[in-house]
Amino acid sequence: MSNNWKKRTNLVHGGSRRSQYNEVSEAIFLTQGFVYDSAEQAEARFLESGPDEFIYARYGNPTVAMFEERMALLEGAEDAFATASGMAAVNGALVSMLKAGDHVVSARALFGSCLYILEDILVRYGVEVTLVDGTDLAQWKAAVRPDTKAVFFESVSNPTLEVIDIAAVSDIAHQVGATVVVDNVFSTPVFSRAIKLGADVVVYSATKHIDGQGRTLGGVILGTKEFIRKTVEPYMKHTGGSMSPFTAWVMLKGLETIDLRVRAQAASALALAEALQGHPALERVIYPGHPEHAQYRLVQSQTGSGGTVISLDIKGGQDAAFRVLNALEIAVISNNLGDAKSIATHPATTTHQRLSDEQRDALGITPGLIRFSVGIEDTEDLISDILQALKSA
Ligand SMILES: *Cc1c(COP(=O)(O)O)cnc(C)c1O
Repeated sequence: MSNNWKKRTNLVHGGSRRSQYNEVSEAIFLTQGFVYDSAEQAEARFLESGPDEFIYARYGNPTVAMFEERMALLEGAEDAFATASGMAAVNGALVSMLKAGDHVVSARALFGSCLYILEDILVRYGVEVTLVDGTDLAQWKAAVRPDTKAVFFESVSNPTLEVIDIAAVSDIAHQVGATVVVDNVFSTPVFSRAIKLGADVVVYSATKHIDGQGRTLGGVILGTKEFIRKTVEPYMKHTGGSMSPFTAWVMLKGLETIDLRVRAQAASALALAEALQGHPALERVIYPGHPEHAQYRLVQSQTGSGGTVISLDIKGGQDAAFRVLNALEIAVISNNLGDAKSIATHPATTTHQRLSDEQRDALGITPGLIRFSVGIEDTEDLISDILQALKSA
């Protein structure tokens, strides 16, 4: 998908389809089916070679198609398929292309559900999975083989915010003909250049910054027209992970403001990281957009922004971290991210509870770690709130 508009114009107008009423705001086509003029027309639509018109909402729907087209324009991808959640997108991108006997290389630092797909589901169906430290290019080089079908990683890992070099890993993967699938949630579609840098497939949990107001679950898979229509679509439309039209409408409205929200959130995140650097209650402040971050230079060339999340390692472990969380007055304790509201999470006891102590240690998820998703509240209010909460540490 492409036109001459820049991102911010496409976020508001890209992919719009107006009905005969010429509505300004995108319509919600809350329908699972579509009426055919005749039995012959119905027959023709179901033919593989038939017209590309809507048949059934699990296959496609006008509101969902608007969201897919807008996302493809935004990401600079040829095509997109919208899914019921971020996990439906990760699962759909991987399972639709893999078969027994294939090999996959993945970064080890992953969202728990992504790890479940790789280590439980794919392995059960005869796919061999090798996990590597995603920031160590030598490990990627050593792990890929001629039968490696896909490589998978989160471009910025959750919750320790390690950044993976998309261009370098894509080069390594492409040398053996593997497809590069990037879970790009923490980079956000606003700052993403993943496809330009070499990624073949980009997935988002739209639940995060795309909705941006904590209302609905959704996801999207972006890639070439060939991959989306020949590999992803048949798998998704027959297995039921499609996005609902209502969700697509919420996501379209979210896209209209995503650029403004995410840039404001990232600016506040940087201000917080600067204000908290060296604070006596903190073991460390992790923010990829701060010069103290080990991969600051890579971040500057890959996305140009540290994103909307900072992680704080509180001295004094879990008890101190809990005291800080309970003292926050603005940020809420929850587990989403990318929301307009600031959200604080204790990964070790919530999102990453399922991992063993050794796994958490290896990933740097310490008992004192708090993930802080920065919202669109006033920056100074957020800084004072965290500073007052840290007194309880
Ligand atoms: C939230 C998240 C997902 C899963 O998305 P859902 O919409 O909750 O299914 C996958 N990957 C990353 C990096 C996430 O942050």
